[in-house]
Amino acid sequence: MSKNVLDGNSLYLRSIPAYASNIAKTRGGLGGEITVPPNSLEFWNCTGNQIEVDGKSCIELSIDNKYTFDKKNLMEYMEMVHQEYISNVLQVYETYDRKSDSWKNVNSVGWEVRYQRIKKRTFKLDFDMYMKVTQDTDTSKAPRYYISSKGDDEYNFIIAYCLIPNFTNIRIEKKKARDGKCTFTFYLEAVGLDNAKAVVDMAHTKAESKNLEKSIDELYDSVSKKVKRGSSGKVTTTKIYDRDPVVSAYVKKRAEGKCDLCGKDAPFMDAKGNPYLEEHHVERLADGGDDTIDNAVALCPNCHRQVHIVGTDEIKTALINRLMAYAEIELKLHGSTDSDIES
Ligand SMILES: [Zn+2]
Ligand SMILES: [Zn+2]
Repeated sequence: MSKNVLDGNSLYLRSIPAYASNIAKTRGGLGGEITVPPNSLEFWNCTGNQIEVDGKSCIELSIDNKYTFDKKNLMEYMEMVHQEYISNVLQVYETYDRKSDSWKNVNSVGWEVRYQRIKKRTFKLDFDMYMKVTQDTDTSKAPRYYISSKGDDEYNFIIAYCLIPNFTNIRIEKKKARDGKCTFTFYLEAVGLDNAKAVVDMAHTKAESKNLEKSIDELYDSVSKKVKRGSSGKVTTTKIYDRDPVVSAYVKKRAEGKCDLCGKDAPFMDAKGNPYLEEHHVERLADGGDDTIDNAVALCPNCHRQVHIVGTDEIKTALINRLMAYAEIELKLHGSTDSDIES
């Protein structure tokens, strides 16, 4: 299956690579540079003239062309992506600490800055483009074609900071007017978000499985460092949203193969021979719940579904009682985890 599809008057670019985005830029490439297939030269209305941009060889695109974003699409795209910022799927990417660069942040603060900046735009989201060709020193390799924007306009901001590398697709629709002028409209699609979730889930499962090889005491030592039970009983954590594989491994071991809600045995063993249970946060992480052993239980798939579909107050109370019973046992076994009290 080809990554890029050129179909008459539309060009579909699947899974924009990380180098095209400053959000997850590693090495090489420039945020905003998007690789296009060589067979799209005609699609882009190239004049074929070689020009120089910043000392680099480029192909001129017809000056009659117009390049634009569709604001409605862009706002919808941003709203879809927001969920991913909330659930922190994007934590796989680097975040920036600099306050002045807040829009670069892969968190809801960064998202908000970008969203508001696009929303405020009342004039058209048009930009200037050119096409760049890079030829490897090994001339037997085929040259690569990029499209990029001239100058410091909205294009760089949107492409470099709004798209999610590897998970965002770009559809470019070409409209030809009677006078031969072409308008290229860029549409962003967040269709790869399920993929993004799957990638993160896979990484989590792998890390959790490694942790399940440890003893429950070893796991407790790791999780208790993260939790600080103050004298008020309040729990503080350093990390939220980002599910900790040590916490999920611990709560599954703690459940000893039985569902924390119905008490029945896990329905089957996983590939490694561990009872299959699912981690559930009693207070949702998105609602400010902590990713700690005091807020997480291990449920059988049936109960987990039930909790999410018909989560009644009764069920929640039962889970909280279960957690309180565990906390009592943990306190007896390990004592207080509050280092302030110990000293
Ligand atoms: Zn159950
Ligand atoms: Zn759950």
